[in-house]
Formats: sequence, structure tokens, C-alpha cells
Amino acid sequence: MNRYYEEKLPAGYSETLVIDANDKKQRMLLQVAAIITVAALINVFFFIYALPRLDEIAADFKIVKCICFIIAYPLYVVLHELTHGLVYKVLTRKKLAFGFKPPSAFCGVPDIYTYRFTSLLSLFAPLTVYSALFVFMFFIINEPFSRAMILLLFALHLSGCSGDLYGIGLFLFRFKSPATLRRDFGPKQVYCTKD
Ligand SMILES: [Zn+2]
Repeated sequence: MNRYYEEKLPAGYSETLVIDANDKKQRMLLQVAAIITVAALINVFFFIYALPRLDEIAADFKIVKCICFIIAYPLYVVLHELTHGLVYKVLTRKKLAFGFKPPSAFCGVPDIYTYRFTSLLSLFAPLTVYSALFVFMFFIINEPFSRAMILLLFALHLSGCSGDLYGIGLFLFRFKSPATLRRDFGPKQVYCTKD
């Protein structure tokens, strides 16, 4: 048995749950979750950070900083998916599938079934790496407007991780067995358990 994945679904396993972003209803639920998350976070950051220092933020405003933000967001989306892919690649060496189905991007490893450990590591990777990066940037950059832009990116990042958080939740609360296998097509994931 390979520690990280199986080439084929082993005997005794069956497909227990299918999450499919191609499905209209599921995609809508995910989008609603993402919108609620980003709106809530922007509110929290606005009241905690921006409101007490609106004058400083306005004084630090520069159009070039807005342009940096506009470039940074799609760049972040690409890096987020590459980070999922990096974990899959290092642990499985298999072909990856990348794609973009507005408003979400995805990365999967469609030809194999990955064990819970591999799936969780791939799900957690961008969430932890970019959360740490944005928090780090917030503390090293001292310009008020730039900091507000970083908080906005951080909010978009956490909201963009809604699907990943859902997957993490499924593994933490429903599929607790390390023997759980998941096939990740990218927009669609199939969770398989031993009978
Ligand atoms: Zn992700």
C-alpha cells in the first residue's frame, strides 16, 4: 500500500459523498458562503483597523498601491492553486488538473485516490501559507493604506478558502478514518470510505 494515494479504488470501498462545483446548487451555496465570509471580514477589519485611522489611510493613498493590489489578487489566486498542486505533486508525482470556473479556480489530481493525510495537507497548505504571509506583511509594512490593502487581500484569501475549509471540516468531523480516500478532479471531489 502506498502511504499517500491509491492508483485505483481498492476493493471494499464505496463512494460516500460527491462535492461538485459544476452542480448549480452546490456552487451557489459555496458562493454564498464565500460572499458572507468576505463581507463579515471586511466589516471586522474596517471597524477594527480602518475606522480609527481613516485620515492616515487617506493621506497614504497612492494610485500605484491600488494597481499593486489589482495585480496582487489574481497572482495570489494562481499561487493558491499552485500551492495545492505542489503538495499533490510532491506526495504523488501524478498529473495535476488546473482550471478556472469563475469565480473560483481549482487544482486537483484527477487520476488517483489520495488518502486523508494527503488530501488534508493539500487543503491546509494555501490556507496556512498565505494567512501567515499576509499577517507577516501586515506587521512589517507600516504604511496605513498599504496595510488596509493587505487586510482586504487577507479577507479575500480567507473567503476564497471557503471550499478548502469545507473539505477540512468534512475530514475533521465526518471522514475521520485515515483510510478515507478522496478523488480530486478539481471542481469535483469524491469521498470514498471502506464499507
Ligand atoms: Zn484552495
